[in-house]
Amino acid sequence: MSEQPTNEPILGYAPGSSERQSLMEEMDRQMSEVIEIPCIINGQEVYTGTTTTQVIPHNHGHVIARVHLAGREEMEAACEAAVNAQGEWIGIGLEARCEIFERCADLLAGDWRMRVNAATMLNQSKTAFQAEIDAACELIDFWRFNCHYARGFHDDFQPLVSPEGVLNTTDIRPLEGFVLSITPFNFSSIAANLPSAPAIVGCTGVWKPSRNSYHSNYVLMQLMMEAGLPPGVINFLPGSGAEITEVALSNPDFAGLHFTGSTATFQGLWQEIGLALPGLRSYPRIVGETGGKDFVVAHPDCDRRGLLVALLRGAFEYQGQKCSAASRAYIPRSVWDAISADLISEIGKIKMGDARDFTNFMTAVIDKRAFDKISGYIERASQRDTCEIVCGGGYDDSVGYFIQPTIIVTTDSDSESMIEEIFGPVLTVYLYDDEDFENVLEVCDKASPYALTGSIFSSSEENVQKAYEALRFTAGNFYINDKPTGAVVAQQPFGGARASGTNDKAGGPLNLLRWISPRSVKRTLDIPQDWTYPFMGADE
Ligand code: NAD
Repeated sequence: MSEQPTNEPILGYAPGSSERQSLMEEMDRQMSEVIEIPCIINGQEVYTGTTTTQVIPHNHGHVIARVHLAGREEMEAACEAAVNAQGEWIGIGLEARCEIFERCADLLAGDWRMRVNAATMLNQSKTAFQAEIDAACELIDFWRFNCHYARGFHDDFQPLVSPEGVLNTTDIRPLEGFVLSITPFNFSSIAANLPSAPAIVGCTGVWKPSRNSYHSNYVLMQLMMEAGLPPGVINFLPGSGAEITEVALSNPDFAGLHFTGSTATFQGLWQEIGLALPGLRSYPRIVGETGGKDFVVAHPDCDRRGLLVALLRGAFEYQGQKCSAASRAYIPRSVWDAISADLISEIGKIKMGDARDFTNFMTAVIDKRAFDKISGYIERASQRDTCEIVCGGGYDDSVGYFIQPTIIVTTDSDSESMIEEIFGPVLTVYLYDDEDFENVLEVCDKASPYALTGSIFSSSEENVQKAYEALRFTAGNFYINDKPTGAVVAQQPFGGARASGTNDKAGGPLNLLRWISPRSVKRTLDIPQDWTYPFMGADE
């Protein structure tokens, strides 16, 4: 087993710090140019001429890239390149593959850090801190810990028994064929991790980035190539998700899907894979981390200031566009009476605007589609008798896609914004009578189809235990007296079940295991020379 990595330390970007200065300079540099983003197929840049632009969500008039989109021909070539690259990629062995991805981590921790963070701040509208914990720290951790875990398999999965005259071993093979990685806009770390994790254990594949993160994802693709990723191992394909899926599924060597994104998209993909099955050489592995409706349940005996901070950070950091963002809260009336004025006053202090202004806590949501969807939820809530908007509620897309941090208080635990994923800065609070804690746990469990993250706030162990048991299947990541966001690689492996995904825990060994297909090998040292068995002897 290799030496255990440690989590990448988070840089602070405090005023006057050198990292703050470098990040500002790098953002200025990236804003001063419009780069051309090609497809990368078999290590070659392919400029298709069919282009789209990439803008800055908090300043959508500003174009930062022109992106060349893959058509059918490029998609077919990318799948073929991945299949052709697999032999050599397996051949160089696990150690050489890990060295490449550990070099990726070192580059990102060093010279590439500001480039990747600046691209993430501009492309996905993140503050410096949100970019740092995502694009730098989490991705460095994904790469380092995944290599560490992958090295462990070879020892952990060797057969326990080799009787005399026999040597049993397990050959840790990757899946045969290519893996299609379809990635979300909201985390640069997830985007690069999805194609990397299967690659570490020997798979090759096609990476289809989100149309809202081409710029930052392209920088990460360049970083991987600089670290020595051989041609064809990961093929970068901006373009239509539906089309790449169709092309990939018509190729018999399609071996797996590594997906993160919305539940509806994943469910559709799963169905398509089912239909394509007769034409495929293997049963593909399907791994998907999807939507959430993440909760905070407070008990009357909770730490009230702690709850306030968790609600504010959990719901509004990165504009609520984390799959783990707190978006429904079950609060006892006594606690709400005590904290609501302070909470609303603290939210009033949140500054929102350009990611380059470091005093901003929030920036814009990702695009017009998200802006319309989120503002639709706010509008409908404002018209419902059972809902009251107690703070925020405003939105403006004249310069960027800005939506105020919004709290809806409801008397209906099944109201739309209490059960559906909104994916924006909207928290809905359901107030319950103080004595109804146990009932509310049941309501929380049943209310939504999702089961990604959730928190319980209580100062008594007995109440924490009640929640722990009642909410066993309500969250794949469960927090006690903390916000439901901010999972760290190797500390809280991330993923949810029910409609939130296959719960294969990104950044942990369980995920890597999905990309291997072991071969059991028996080597006989004393080769039998007699075909008969003792039982065949005749009775005296
Ligand atoms: P999305 O589903 O819109 O897109 C995800 C990816 O799927 C994109 O690359 C997109 O182009 C592609 N896609 C869309 N339609 C497709 C189709 N018909 N066929 C093939 N590909 C298609 O999601 P998003 O807006 O990028 O991300 C937000 C969603 O991701 C939220 O629901 C969030 O909860 C979820 N998410 C989950 C996790 C997790 O770990 N559970 C992490 C991050 C994001």
